[in-house]
Amino acid sequence: MMSIRPDELSTCISCGLCLNDCPTFRVLGDEADSPRGRIALMRTLVSVRGTPDPSLVEHLEACLVCRACETACPSGVPFGILMEGAREILHERVRPPLLARLALRIGLGTVADPRRLGLATRLVRLYQRLGVRALAHRLGLVPRALRDAEALLPARIDAAYELRDEPAIGEERHHIAFFAGCVMRTAFGATDRATVRVLRKNGCRVLVPRAQVCCGALHAHAGEADGSRALARRNIEAFEASGATIILVNAAGCGAQLKGYGVLLRDDAAWRDRAERFAVRVRDVTEFLAANFVASPRPLRLRVAYQDACHLAHGQKVRRQPRALLAAIPQVTIVELGDGERCCGSAGTYNLTHRDVADELGQMKASAIRNVNPDVVVTANPGCLLQISAHLERAGARIPVRHIMDLLDETI
Ligand code: SF4
Ligand code: SF4
Repeated sequence: MMSIRPDELSTCISCGLCLNDCPTFRVLGDEADSPRGRIALMRTLVSVRGTPDPSLVEHLEACLVCRACETACPSGVPFGILMEGAREILHERVRPPLLARLALRIGLGTVADPRRLGLATRLVRLYQRLGVRALAHRLGLVPRALRDAEALLPARIDAAYELRDEPAIGEERHHIAFFAGCVMRTAFGATDRATVRVLRKNGCRVLVPRAQVCCGALHAHAGEADGSRALARRNIEAFEASGATIILVNAAGCGAQLKGYGVLLRDDAAWRDRAERFAVRVRDVTEFLAANFVASPRPLRLRVAYQDACHLAHGQKVRRQPRALLAAIPQVTIVELGDGERCCGSAGTYNLTHRDVADELGQMKASAIRNVNPDVVVTANPGCLLQISAHLERAGARIPVRHIMDLLDETI
């Protein structure tokens, strides 16, 4: 069990410097919904046994796990690790209502099983394409819970990305392994294909292990740490077999999770070293390409607002590389968003479980974008892309939101 380590908990010196950078504190205005308040609640959680107070559970579950507090903290508090430990304890001690338990089990079971996820995605694609979705919405037959769940999927799902090795286009310079993701591969197949094309045109032979599975981030955020660790072991095995020394990923949330496998399995003596070796090989695709881009992009006369995904900026400290890639496209002008590193409210399934806070953050992000009025918003995480698109549409702004790899693919 990961739980919460006292030495990590004690790194918080209660200075409060993180408060103004915390999106939930900003929206809810309650100390218990700030990083410092949540760390105090974690201290309570580990000091007592049995079912915790419902308000403690509520404040810990209202955290986006965006890790903006890690960026702000002068004391190096590993907030993401602490929160996942806290969620694991809550998962063991708190029994949610039957419907919530069932929804969680079905949701996590589906993302963890590629065949089940593939079938579910094909059904959603049919629902979208046969006009059933449009008709059901027109007739008002779609319950709110389903409408909210739909917001987590693209308006039009393309064919899934097929896992297969592909050679470099032109001179071969690198052997890399590609982590295709679960939702990325099935719901954003076009973006995975674009990513592989961009890598191949930059001299990469792309190895794609067929045995790879979901990264386990959704399990970890829900406190299902055993499920998350089981998925991690399967991925480690799959990528070891590829022989590649670099593992690339194009979804910020998955990347942060894969880079955290060493911590996730640190109490497992049989897997600890393998997990650490795996984690140090993982790079966001923009990290790799910023250092290895050899293709010649054609000009795009665009004002581009780059939206930092929390799990890339705060979770992986990757900020410069995506901007460098965009700046390498002739005639692109990068515009910065006010409060650009504040979470957009997507955060995995947060916009399903905490709709009001997610909506407020989404509106704030849409208004920051409208203030600079770019031609396109670019980001590196599918959740941010959907959340921002939905809120721009609600605000009546016709500004497209694209994954950085789709834009790069278009230019080369
Ligand atoms: S992870 Fe994000 S939402 Fe949670 S306490 Fe830290 S800053 Fe606040
Ligand atoms: S988490 Fe860091 S910034 Fe926030 S109160 Fe603790 S020590 Fe200070």
